[in-house]
Amino acid sequence: MSASRFRFPHVEMPEVAVQLRAEVREFLAEERASGGFVPMADCWASAMSPEYSRKVGQRGWLGMTWDKQYGGHGRSFLERYVVTEEMLAAGAPVMAHWIADRQSGPQIIKNAQPHVRDQIIPRIVAGDCFCAIGMSEPNTGSDLASVSTKAEKVEGGWRVNGTKLWSTGAHGCDYMITLLRTAPPDAKARHEGLSQFIIDLKSPGVQIRGIADIGGQVHFNETQFEDVFVPDDYVLGEVGQGWQMVVGELALERSGPERFLSSFIVLQEAMRVLVTNPSDKTREVLGQLVAKIKTLRRMSLGIAGLLEEGSSPEMEAALVKDVATRFEREMLEKLRSILPAHILAASNGLLPTLLREGILRVPSSTLRGGTNEVLKGMIARQLGMR
Ligand SMILES: Cc1cc2nc3c(=O)[nH]c(=O)nc-3n(C[C@H](O)[C@H](O)[C@H](O)COP(=O)(O)OP(=O)(O)OC[C@H]3O[C@@H](n4cnc5c(N)ncnc54)[C@H](O)[C@@H]3O)c2cc1C
Repeated sequence: MSASRFRFPHVEMPEVAVQLRAEVREFLAEERASGGFVPMADCWASAMSPEYSRKVGQRGWLGMTWDKQYGGHGRSFLERYVVTEEMLAAGAPVMAHWIADRQSGPQIIKNAQPHVRDQIIPRIVAGDCFCAIGMSEPNTGSDLASVSTKAEKVEGGWRVNGTKLWSTGAHGCDYMITLLRTAPPDAKARHEGLSQFIIDLKSPGVQIRGIADIGGQVHFNETQFEDVFVPDDYVLGEVGQGWQMVVGELALERSGPERFLSSFIVLQEAMRVLVTNPSDKTREVLGQLVAKIKTLRRMSLGIAGLLEEGSSPEMEAALVKDVATRFEREMLEKLRSILPAHILAASNGLLPTLLREGILRVPSSTLRGGTNEVLKGMIARQLGMR
């Protein structure tokens, strides 16, 4: 067994990224001061503001790494990392554009028909077009090969029937990148017969129903398709190649700093409140949390370095997602233990809200984007243990 199969290269931030960080911080401070947003825990999956996303697009911070010829900004993965990291650390309302910027855009650039790509990508870059992920179904989660929502060939396109579940943000999105069955299941070739489609969520026959989470917030949905027509040119890549595309997309889905920074705003706000006269226990807990977060950041940044060099760091992303999402649970528990009620009550009101939202949201972190048990299986295989 060799841990060296995982690579986490040391990354020095280039000067351009250091300057960019200052710009992003200034923008965030202005937005917050002018009431443009109130910080939220788990902002990338729960704080949707198309207006804010448009402002981010106007700054040139969406589609940052995409080729200029497609409407992107041709910047580095490290520059994009700085922007996403700062937005998450501030708890900014980035949900509307998050999925399109992270994974749907790259998928569309690589696999869509040129005219479809040219129609959608500039709008994503402008913060004017948002996407959802349609992989899971009522009876399909970890085992994506069992997808049963069907696309049947008809004149000029495909007719789609079935239900997708847990579709984050679909209620505010324009398109769903959807994994569909285009051929009957074959027990001997389970990953075949699947294809990816770009489905316009305004199409007749699409019904989106919000699902409230444990805290009563509606951020994910049940999306039903009833005889929905999808034109031929909205198939992504080749018919039957859906599985390979989904695997590539999951690497992007799991590789970003949101996997360890979803609750960072809670830690930051707690530290601001606890900094006067901390007890020994408080110092110890905060010290441990900061040390762990620094290590996770070092690993996460290494993944951005691998993306920059053109690698597909699927295994590194799985490892960081597993460790980081468990850390986020631990962090909120520990913060709760060192924040007595009188300190919470004396804070300006933001901390109790952030802590409550963080605690209610964190159970989802070890499920969404692939459960930790499934990630551990992948890691074990990579280490030659299974
Ligand atoms: C907040 C949130 C947002 C989400 N957003 C989206 C979205 O936008 N689009 C989308 O398509 N999906 C989304 N999902 C769905 C998510 O991807 C699935 O919940 C996840 O893949 C697990 O699937 P499942 O819930 O069906 O559980 P199951 O796959 O049924 O798993 C049940 C349990 O069995 C375990 N298990 C399953 N297989 C294995 C295995 N091989 N080895 C060991 N243990 C195993 C799991 O770890 C889990 O504990 C979201 C989920 C959440 C919680």
